[in-house]
Amino acid sequence: MKRRKNKNRPFRALQIEVTSRCTRNCSICPRSSLSETWQDGDLSQELWEIIEPDLALAEHVHLQGWGEPLLQPRLPEWAAQAREAGCSVGITTNGDLLSEAHPWLLDGNVNLITISAAGSKECHTALRDGARIEEVMSKAGELSAAAREHKLKIEFKLSYLLTRSNAHELPDAVQMAADAGFHELFVTHLDCPTSQFQLDESAFNQEGIPSEAVEYLQNAAKTARKKKLAFRGPTCTGEEVLACALNPVYFTYVTWDGRVGPCVNLLIPVQGPIPRWTDAGVNRIAPLAYGRLDRSSLSDLIDSKERKLFITPLQKRLDADSRFRHEMNQEICELRILRGLEEAQSEREEVLQDHPLPSPCEACPKASGW
Ligand code: SF4
Repeated sequence: MKRRKNKNRPFRALQIEVTSRCTRNCSICPRSSLSETWQDGDLSQELWEIIEPDLALAEHVHLQGWGEPLLQPRLPEWAAQAREAGCSVGITTNGDLLSEAHPWLLDGNVNLITISAAGSKECHTALRDGARIEEVMSKAGELSAAAREHKLKIEFKLSYLLTRSNAHELPDAVQMAADAGFHELFVTHLDCPTSQFQLDESAFNQEGIPSEAVEYLQNAAKTARKKKLAFRGPTCTGEEVLACALNPVYFTYVTWDGRVGPCVNLLIPVQGPIPRWTDAGVNRIAPLAYGRLDRSSLSDLIDSKERKLFITPLQKRLDADSRFRHEMNQEICELRILRGLEEAQSEREEVLQDHPLPSPCEACPKASGW
């Protein structure tokens, strides 16, 4: 198949679920709450060969979905092919299989390794099915030291899933990440609640996040500054966004069974609808895919009318906002410029009203910036 050459890569990221299997059954993951209908499986070589010619559409390829990517035996060769296509390549892992992957990760084809944590002590163990974060971070520390020794440019990040019960363990996680030679710690929310337990564990609700959690975040940011570790906190107040942080205008997700769609939240590998728990009750969301790779190529699905339908309102919202911001940045030295600003502001309001977020995003925590 002809490889697509693309200097102007239209996608910031392409996320590919290389497996939906996992080494754990964590209470905070849909895989445990939806275990009865969960579809375990691996992306096949045949599907990869359909994706591969279009990898160059994306700046970054993230080889992970709702499973543990290091369980996928073909990961080393796929990472190498994504690098060959000129993409940066990342994985997010629970770290269970890091020692086994250590030799091939030093090939340098994966240049972003994110370890996911849900605490720095007991909370991680409780929320992550018995896993011990000290062991994971010790293996990750060895890998980051070896990468430095080999002069490899691999970025190591710790992704901290903030919940109602684990905020107090965050400052120690910063220390842990710095000790392991990591470059960054970023904090995320439990933004895909598929059970009452997960909804209750989310650190946010309509009022924002608890003040104690804000204090732990501030302490963590202070420790990170001292340790020269980059730190990215989460949103602390939710409000409707123009497009969620994934931004499907520049992002596409591929599932292990070859469906292509806007995001992980709309393509959880279960049979039937996806339950989305909210304070007002459970919404059952139909999975949303633009199409399937066994019927069309990735680039055809990206150009499909199904995708256009989903992203057009997002594009219109983003464009209206950028026009407004452009006008705002003008120095108001003439009446004409003030009028331009007023027009851009009312146009922005109209566009946001006429083009709401796509209906599958309704009540998704990410649509409120969480
Ligand atoms: S708001 Fe939620 S459902 Fe909509 S694209 Fe973003 S993650 Fe997906």
